Amino acid sequence: AAMRFDVLTLFPGMFTGPLSESILKRAIQAGRISVVLHDIRAYATDRHRTTDDAPYGGGAGMVMKPEPLAACIRAVLAMTDNDTGESAPKPPVILMTPDGEPFTQRIAAELATCPRLVLVCGRYEGVDERVRAALIDRELSIGDYVLTGGELAAMVVIDAVARLVPGVIDAESAAEESFSDGLLEYPQYTRPAVWEGREVPPVLVSGHHGEVAQWRRRERLRRTLERRPDLLARAVLTDADRAYLRT
Ligand code: SAM
Repeated sequence: AAMRFDVLTLFPGMFTGPLSESILKRAIQAGRISVVLHDIRAYATDRHRTTDDAPYGGGAGMVMKPEPLAACIRAVLAMTDNDTGESAPKPPVILMTPDGEPFTQRIAAELATCPRLVLVCGRYEGVDERVRAALIDRELSIGDYVLTGGELAAMVVIDAVARLVPGVIDAESAAEESFSDGLLEYPQYTRPAVWEGREVPPVLVSGHHGEVAQWRRRERLRRTLERRPDLLARAVLTDADRAYLRT
């Protein structure tokens, strides 16, 4: 069965482009993932379909009103997927927010094991705190900066999770890349062997698989030490890794 993403947003049109190109497009066509967009505005009940209001206590900006968002979340949770059926467990409802838990490859892998995720995109100054308390299970941030809305953040989560769903990309690509085991990736090269006077490292064209593997491991260690020593402190290292890092 396909992994299903339900996205709650005031701007469903923002997802059309990213979902209709390349790997995600193919994953949807192949039935590996499905993305169902829900327009929060459709759950506003007044004549103007209002979804935001001024903050209590004053201050800049607007806040997403609780009623339309709550109605939208509840309606989405009441929808059962044809694939998953009535007995499916309640999917986690995840709010995209800059004050959430930092999204990482580890969390992407964890979420990829869920049959279904509900992603809520904020706008304006964010959502009423009571909706968070009542209906949100988890809060994720994609980094320490502020976006105009949660749509790009939700798209980042969909993209990172979808490529870990079996069959979306080949398994070896996912196993060896940055963060998969706490290290950054080794440098990549393709043809030609010499480009503008720059050669590919000779070991890569030597045909010695053992030496290639050792070179790649060392490059990963070196690169992680140089660029992200914070990651290296938590990575699982062998005695040979440690010996190399001391050189
Ligand atoms: N007033 C909020 C604050 O200071 O935390 C910022 C709200 S932001 C302008 C509007 C919406 O964009 C948020 O509700 C959230 O859904 C989304 N957003 C912005 N930055 C984000 C980030 N780094 N990660 C995840 N979502 C983000």
